[in-house]
Amino acid sequence: MKQTLKVNCEKEYLIEISDNSFEKLNQEINEATKGQKRLIVISKKVYKLYYTRLNFSEDEIFVLNDGEKEKNYKNYLKIIERAKQIGLTRKDVMIAIGGGVAGDITGFAASTYMRGIEFIQVPTTLLSAVDSSVGGKTAIDLADAKNVIGTFYQPKAVFINTNFLATLDKKQFMSGLGEVLKYAFIEESCGHTNPLYLFEFLTLGCEKIMQKEPLTMIRMIEYCLSLKIAVVNQDEKEGGLRKVLNFGHTLGHALETITKYNKFTHGEAVAYGMYFIIKWAYNHEYIGYAYYRLSMELLEKYGFKPLKKKFQKEKLIELMMKDKKASEGKITFIIPCDKKKVREIKLTPIEAGYMFDE
Ligand code: NAD
Ligand code: MG
Repeated sequence: MKQTLKVNCEKEYLIEISDNSFEKLNQEINEATKGQKRLIVISKKVYKLYYTRLNFSEDEIFVLNDGEKEKNYKNYLKIIERAKQIGLTRKDVMIAIGGGVAGDITGFAASTYMRGIEFIQVPTTLLSAVDSSVGGKTAIDLADAKNVIGTFYQPKAVFINTNFLATLDKKQFMSGLGEVLKYAFIEESCGHTNPLYLFEFLTLGCEKIMQKEPLTMIRMIEYCLSLKIAVVNQDEKEGGLRKVLNFGHTLGHALETITKYNKFTHGEAVAYGMYFIIKWAYNHEYIGYAYYRLSMELLEKYGFKPLKKKFQKEKLIELMMKDKKASEGKITFIIPCDKKKVREIKLTPIEAGYMFDE
């Protein structure tokens, strides 16, 4: 099965979501890069698992070690140097195969090499399939600051093949599901033209999703990306609407930072952030009891739990104040305000502090 989505921002491009054979994937990548020289940046783990099934020559491959700390300027320079060494010109292309780390660094390299060359995303984690491969944000990190160097740069195409998900471990799969669930809570604020009923789809389809049933996976990724595309089409560079994608992320980011990125995966931290803000919105009568219960049940169904461990609230607030989305001395939260709808609120650090006392 194959689904195709189209992104219509500054640059138009296609996203293909399928469970096609790897042979077909090779063929499609070859067609999309016909006549071009290629630099294929591939995550080491994916390289080891899939090299024999992906038909590339050793000369065009750059193997990127795994882990967030590899999304750094040293690897960025190595990718650029390799591109130069194999003679990539402005007419050529870079391809990222891997999770968000490979996608972000390759996208950044492609956007800056010779002032920008074509770039193709082949996301292999659930998180990169439903989120990072689409939308055009590219980045590398500094040692103590994530994603501070980056560009908005749209890919030429995105090939999502659900067969890659078979080897994804539970932790990484759950991380992707954290982002998937986020879309259910924001659906009606994304400006998508027709209802997708993602909340209901995820509620009813939990078992099939947890088993990674191929057709359900394709549909689920398609729904999530349709919502992301609807947002990106209206707000490519994060002027306004794109903030809704940050539901659960204000606390999520702070939790990732306070634990130095080695306790929670991104999706897990976002799930804690969603629990927190949904409960707060209910306590403050932004949402009613019925939706509050349904929301809790959805998160629980997928095995997510509210955060038990207590962190120092002053430290969390300090981190939230440093968030890129904080402004004018206030912290931005995306809160649920109705069924599947969210809105932005800004709180002073003192007001935000009260949130943790409830
Ligand atoms: P990741 O790229 O680190 O991948 C997670 C792990 O899964 C790695 O060890 C990787 O080798 C392994 N892996 C990848 N594919 C696999 C497969 N098919 N089978 C088995 N193992 C596999 O992490 P991620 O969660 O994919 O992405 C996180 C990154 O994405 C962060 O750097 C984050 O900042 C970025 N991100 C970017 C955007 C954006 O809009 N650009 C959005 C969200 C996240
Ligand atoms: Mg996220």
